[in-house]
Amino acid sequence: MDIRIEKTTNPKEKPDQKHLGFGNYFTDHMFVMDWYRDKGWTDARIVPYAPIALDPAGVVLHYAQETFEGLKAYRTEDGHIQLFRPDMNAKRMQRSNERLCMPTIPVEDFVEAVKALVKVEQDWVPSEPDTSLYIRPFVFSTEASLGVHMADSYCFMIILSPVGAYYPTGLDPVKIMVEDELVRAVKGGTGFTKCGGNYAGSILGQVKAEEKGYTQVLWLDGEERKYVEEVGTMNIMFKIAGEIYTAPIDNGTVLAGVTRDSMITLLRDWGYTVHEEKLAIDDLMKAGHDNTLEEVFGTGTAAVISPVGELRYKDDVVVINDSKTGELTQKLYDTLTGIQWGRIKDDYGWTCGLD
Ligand SMILES: *Cc1c(COP(=O)(O)O)cnc(C)c1O
Repeated sequence: MDIRIEKTTNPKEKPDQKHLGFGNYFTDHMFVMDWYRDKGWTDARIVPYAPIALDPAGVVLHYAQETFEGLKAYRTEDGHIQLFRPDMNAKRMQRSNERLCMPTIPVEDFVEAVKALVKVEQDWVPSEPDTSLYIRPFVFSTEASLGVHMADSYCFMIILSPVGAYYPTGLDPVKIMVEDELVRAVKGGTGFTKCGGNYAGSILGQVKAEEKGYTQVLWLDGEERKYVEEVGTMNIMFKIAGEIYTAPIDNGTVLAGVTRDSMITLLRDWGYTVHEEKLAIDDLMKAGHDNTLEEVFGTGTAAVISPVGELRYKDDVVVINDSKTGELTQKLYDTLTGIQWGRIKDDYGWTCGLD
């Protein structure tokens, strides 16, 4: 891929690394590549970060034809920059785009674009403990038309945002509300894709949970509202009587998280039995009352692992592990972040540099 680079003449002041938060600051440049039906992907470029012009009839604004990805660049203690399994994000975006009838990007081109942009912005990769550079690739239709059909033009962009430690004071268990009315995904729908539309439909559940003092929603399956699927932006795992349970991804309703896959690999290597199978919410709450529900944690790129201290389903409340971070949760966090920031040897070949 030929990438034209146009550097900014007006670089921004870098934010204080101790107060980055998540998704608040954006770097000096962005990657852009256009797609036209007759030309395919064309004009790959890295240009100064700026607002984009979009026709008010642009298909994405009306029919939400948009997919995205999320990964990070990490600065190691010796100052190098590394990525974590970027090919997994590239492949997942291909599956998302195929489902939404959008052109796919070759895996090598996706990874090359990510590496090229991070290289240009390497000074933006923070070095404070637990900080990283969040990478947000996205594709959307740009054609000006109100007809519902596959569009004639699309745009692939990547923007970067330096982000802080998700838990500034260490792992902090969250309270989760099980949504028993609204659903996120159904079989045959778009649940397995990372598309903006999935999120638009989930915000109401999030608002409901927050009104009741909960930080996240746990979604049940769309057909029977009986089996646990995933949290808004994370997959979720349960340790019950020493074994691990998480929803299967082959049903097409749960997102195939890169963190989920990595955790399952670590857990199986450590000798744990991992069940990727349906788990009924009633059985889960029962395990909570029997005290066989030992640990619950969400997994996703942003937080890596999010211990769950409380689950509410209708009027039933279960407190997990005294609302403290479990031992296995902590070990998974330490191991995965150790690999990502280069503190632990990567025996899996998951990390790569920018060349
Ligand atoms: C992105 C996302 C996840 C987590 O995936 P990772 O690849 O681990 O970051 C889980 N569920 C949903 C709905 C997501 O959008």
